[in-house]
Amino acid sequence: MNRLKQICAIVLLLALLPVLAGCGQSAGENAAPGAIEPKGKMYYSYFDTVSYVYDYAGDSAERFDGRSAEVSHILQEYHELFDIYHEYTGVTNLCTLNKAAGGEAIPLDPRLIDFLLTARELYDTTGGEMNVMLGAVLRLWHDCREAAAADPANASIPTEEALRAAAEHTDIALLEIDAENNTARISDPQASIDVGALGKGYAVERAAEWLESEGACGYVLNVGGNIRCIGARPNGSGWVTAIRNPDSEAEDYALRIRISDTSCVTSGVYERYFTVNGTRYHHIIDKDTLYPAAYYDSLTVITRDSGLADALSTALFCMPFDEGLQLAESLEGVDVLWIFPDGEQRTSSGFAAWIEEIK
Ligand code: ADP
Ligand code: MG
Repeated sequence: MNRLKQICAIVLLLALLPVLAGCGQSAGENAAPGAIEPKGKMYYSYFDTVSYVYDYAGDSAERFDGRSAEVSHILQEYHELFDIYHEYTGVTNLCTLNKAAGGEAIPLDPRLIDFLLTARELYDTTGGEMNVMLGAVLRLWHDCREAAAADPANASIPTEEALRAAAEHTDIALLEIDAENNTARISDPQASIDVGALGKGYAVERAAEWLESEGACGYVLNVGGNIRCIGARPNGSGWVTAIRNPDSEAEDYALRIRISDTSCVTSGVYERYFTVNGTRYHHIIDKDTLYPAAYYDSLTVITRDSGLADALSTALFCMPFDEGLQLAESLEGVDVLWIFPDGEQRTSSGFAAWIEEIK
């Protein structure tokens, strides 16, 4: 990565601040007064969103360039592996797996096999609320969202009948994984995988893992609002980041947290949605109703593993509070903030320790 690219990246970063503001949160950009500015920033575009690598450790330009280039490379590879809409030359990805549904098992990159095994584990962890085999249902909502973007006046939602029919093809058992031979198969031609709930966080965790293996400390990865801190700032303190007020169009924050050596992921009704006859339909679908989950306006998970944080942010969004609280408290090192449609905030027992008082 040369200097010119780095300068372009910073210019782009400034241009993209409004986009970042829409991402729910942004470590670094909303730092408290007096906070240390990052010594390096790099911008990329993966997973249909904006990604940043921030270096607060003060690495040399050369080392930062090398490290951010490798982070970019890791994110790009996972972006290609997880893409369900496009195939890439020389890559067998989830789009290929979906196309082969109902046919023979296909050989997959071992990284995809590991990912699929994790996705299945997280299905169990979340009691099926985060189900990557919900593709058939999610596609109906996705298509309506795309059509609404192209022609808002004629926006519509999927029919109840179509949703019910699609739900017949969402059993997690339809995903068959042969970890010994690195092959997988979707056994039902009408079923499909969608990893929107987990892919980004999982990829961020792999990039963080690589940075940690390099001994990097004082980095922050922000991939579309999925934040992963590697270590702490050089002075030992964490980074201050703001959790958006989901009810507000303006840049307004529900609260601020200070985090280090952990991940923070928010799912919100304001992230991706479309409007039909004045009603908003967002992108997190409750498997029980097959409609956008209606319990909360936003939900934030803080836990070290960014993949777990991502999966839980989606799953807990689809669970009533008592059930969700019980799940959160049963998991080691998982802290959660729920923001209800009326603005009420509730937290799991460990969350308060992260809150940064606004002076
Ligand atoms: P984002 O990645 O946009 O920040 P989420 O992590 O909550 O938000 O993921 C939302 C995406 O996950 C949706 O766009 C869809 O692809 C997928 N999804 C929605 N509902 C579910 C669900 N119940 N289980 C699994 N995947 C889901
Ligand atoms: Mg998620």
